[in-house]
Amino acid sequence: MPELPEVETTRRGIEPHVVGRVVTRLVVRNPRLRWRVPAKLERELAGQTITSVTRRGKYLLLATAAGTAILHLGMSGSLRVVACSQAADKYDHVDIVLDSGDCLRLRDPRRFGSLLWTRDEPLRHKLLRDLGPEPLSPDFSGGYLHEILRGRRRNIRDTLLDSRLVAGVGNIYANEALFAAGLRPTRPAGKITRTQCDRLVTAIRETLLRALRAGGTTLRDFRDSRGRPGYFQQSLKVYGREDEPCRRCHTPVRLKRLGQRSAFYCPKCQR
Ligand SMILES: [Zn+2]
Repeated sequence: MPELPEVETTRRGIEPHVVGRVVTRLVVRNPRLRWRVPAKLERELAGQTITSVTRRGKYLLLATAAGTAILHLGMSGSLRVVACSQAADKYDHVDIVLDSGDCLRLRDPRRFGSLLWTRDEPLRHKLLRDLGPEPLSPDFSGGYLHEILRGRRRNIRDTLLDSRLVAGVGNIYANEALFAAGLRPTRPAGKITRTQCDRLVTAIRETLLRALRAGGTTLRDFRDSRGRPGYFQQSLKVYGREDEPCRRCHTPVRLKRLGQRSAFYCPKCQR
């Protein structure tokens, strides 16, 4: 699933091809994404100049003078800049056609992604207004984390996946950051000390930044905006490595089903 580093990698990749370009038309081959692509979107977007491409959590925002397109890549989505003449396949559901002859092509085999539109302030949109701080911003600190974890009995791994507490940290990077911080995914969130919160915040930031430098992680079919895979997978310490030796102490990495998602940890390095 594209998480923050994959979405930010996509943002950086498409930005130079998209900002300042005029949208000439929209091709919607299949509007049935997680939410239906609004029928009015073509009317709203055609003729508009894209003024910026920003990210909030795992959402990409394409701003124009008339409003903002809000994109989410779901479980398996990718957004690429391709020549319009390049044939689309059955998973290429939407093309945002630009005056450069390129188009921004949304591909999403599992169709959990979305493309929505708002004329209002996008950060107040119902999907965005309740998002917690960006993990790479100064608002996300050890003090903040300790404060919001207080009294929570849920495990720390699930707690980190709650986008109302921190935006955009998904299962891969939550597991990796917990390894880096020496904390077991099953630990009750409310039992984590202030010092451990400081360590965890640093671990989350460093994990995300390292993944960003590698262009994200390729799991299933993530590709960046030029169709290249991310290279962070080679650097994963625990995620997807059950029964393989811990990279620090050689104890086999354990897999545990935790809620809907797998947790991976080293029973020796993580307490
Ligand atoms: Zn270990």
